[in-house]
Amino acid sequence: AGSDISQRRHASDLVVERNTACKPKPDPATLVFGKQFSDHMLTINWSAADGWETPHIKPFQNLSLHPASSALHYSIELFEGMKAFRGEDNHIRLFRPMLNMERMLRSADRSSLPLFDKEELLKCIKKLVEVDQEWVPFSQDASLYIRPTFIGTEPSLGVSPTTQAMIFVIVGPVGPYFATGSFNPISLLADPSFVRAWKGGVGAYKMGGNYGPTIAVQSEAVKRGCQQVLWLYGEQEEITEVGTMNLFIYWTNEKGEKELFTPPLDGIILPGVTRQSLLDLARTWGEFKVTERTMSMKELLGALDAGRILEVFGAGTACVVCPVGSLLYREESYQIPTMQNGPDLAKRFHKELTDIQYGRTASDWAPLV
Ligand code: PMP
Repeated sequence: AGSDISQRRHASDLVVERNTACKPKPDPATLVFGKQFSDHMLTINWSAADGWETPHIKPFQNLSLHPASSALHYSIELFEGMKAFRGEDNHIRLFRPMLNMERMLRSADRSSLPLFDKEELLKCIKKLVEVDQEWVPFSQDASLYIRPTFIGTEPSLGVSPTTQAMIFVIVGPVGPYFATGSFNPISLLADPSFVRAWKGGVGAYKMGGNYGPTIAVQSEAVKRGCQQVLWLYGEQEEITEVGTMNLFIYWTNEKGEKELFTPPLDGIILPGVTRQSLLDLARTWGEFKVTERTMSMKELLGALDAGRILEVFGAGTACVVCPVGSLLYREESYQIPTMQNGPDLAKRFHKELTDIQYGRTASDWAPLV
């Protein structure tokens, strides 16, 4: 599909207005996810009449929006989540950023938002990271979180395609998900009365509207003594995702083979960059079977009972991998032996990916900024 950032405006037209009142950088040890922001932001406006306007990097500031803006009424909003890492060599790297740009473009298409040139947007994002490079933590436990956002700014209440829109990108330093060396398992609430996404819906897109409604369910999980939600789907209670992570199970299958399994991209799963990377790595290793298929709660509990489940973990940008230690399902608690099994595979994935992200292993998955 055509887009016109490239026809009308290039990243090279980008205008940079430097912040003259830069803030002190927080101590990486005290970082709380999503609460600290850098000194600059990127904005790019679009209108049906004029197409994409010149991209601007400017001091971090509030937005001014018409109160009828379609993002505020009909959730015409989507976002991405990616990171920049400072390596031992002091170079700053992104991780497979084009996968985020492609996912963002698919989300835009499904949101009736205008298409854009992925390469040009990535160039603008790299420029923002360069301008705010002092905000990329000098630590191999921390990183700079990048939040590209795309909103409809149509100033009218009709439920119709937007004629005005804005891409903006904000960034901020984030600490490690786990304190160094520790890999704490999480507990999950699996309650089939809650559904995150459904066939024909928009679960495969990173739209804000998918996330707001999960907060009450997350609170319910905490109320019942769990840390996150295991999202189930349909009559068979298929296991789909964990909180905002994709789900992986390493087990011995019915045939006695070692197998890594994750649910397929059938429309209700967010196609995670980490998910794709774990599948790619495992397939390159070729040491065990790698399968994308559905698994019901019944099958999982059966395998657990038979002692065939080795490791269960979530995978996402926030933590890379996150081991799962237990499950609360229909008032019963089930222990998962992820930690007792190392977790060898989860740790190996974590090391492989972070080695690439921090430049300890050279890889074309980690382009320099
Ligand atoms: N599932 C959901 C619902 C998510 O929000 C995320 C975070 N983007 C993921 C999975 C993991 O995706 P990624 O590896 O790209 O961070």
